[in-house]
Amino acid sequence: MASDRTTQLEFAVQMTCDGCVNAVRTALEGAQGVQSVKIDLAREEVLVESALTSQEVLRLIESTGRRAVLKGMGVAEQDLGVAVAMMGGAGPVQGVVRFLQVTEDCCMIDGTIDGLEPGPHGLHVHELGDLTKDCLSCGDHFNPAGRQHGAPQDSERHVGDLGNILAGSDGRALFRLEDSQLKVWDIIGRSLVVDSGEDDLGRGGHPLSKQNGNSGERLACGIIARSASLFQNAKQICACDGVTIWEERDRPLAGKGRKTTDTPAANL
Ligand SMILES: [Zn+2]
Repeated sequence: MASDRTTQLEFAVQMTCDGCVNAVRTALEGAQGVQSVKIDLAREEVLVESALTSQEVLRLIESTGRRAVLKGMGVAEQDLGVAVAMMGGAGPVQGVVRFLQVTEDCCMIDGTIDGLEPGPHGLHVHELGDLTKDCLSCGDHFNPAGRQHGAPQDSERHVGDLGNILAGSDGRALFRLEDSQLKVWDIIGRSLVVDSGEDDLGRGGHPLSKQNGNSGERLACGIIARSASLFQNAKQICACDGVTIWEERDRPLAGKGRKTTDTPAANL
């Protein structure tokens, strides 16, 4: 189900003066869904409590002309784990989906997926973090209790059944869901897959309905990896190859293109 619960998002934001601070503060505080904003100019850090997706908050900050990178997310009370999946596939579909364990019984799923056909698309955690045959090697829906496929609100469902996300006319699905069965600690090392069609939630009467919701082919997938909660990510420069977080923002995570230096390093 869609979530209006607030979370805290920690961003590194390029800010050099009080004018920058004021611009960022104004952009955030004027937005609906933003509850509080804390800005530390010396550390170039912005902490936002809001009920918006991390992508929406990022866009608000970057609307001031400054670049921002999400460094961590969490909730004030406790740290039960955060994970992230970078989604990609053979086609144009790509995105980033984050999982935040808010309480023992609530996992928040915050995501942006681009390049989709407008309309609903099934979203599922799959058993295997194996992309050797692209999304085809991810295995079936994550189903440790041996149940039938269902809707997120059903008790008879796969743990990995997250229902549908809705892409708008621009091909983007922006979502923030809460789930009571998924636990971050159970899904790290598994994968997340978005499908071409609508998940019928086990109710379609098709032979595949009770297996996978008959939601079509796998468009994009990503391995679910552990990620930083609040204030855990102290890095400003990646020690492995000297790529700064600002350069990293505009680069692929690995492979060709990561080490090119055609943009000068930002002044950190
Ligand atoms: Zn399923």
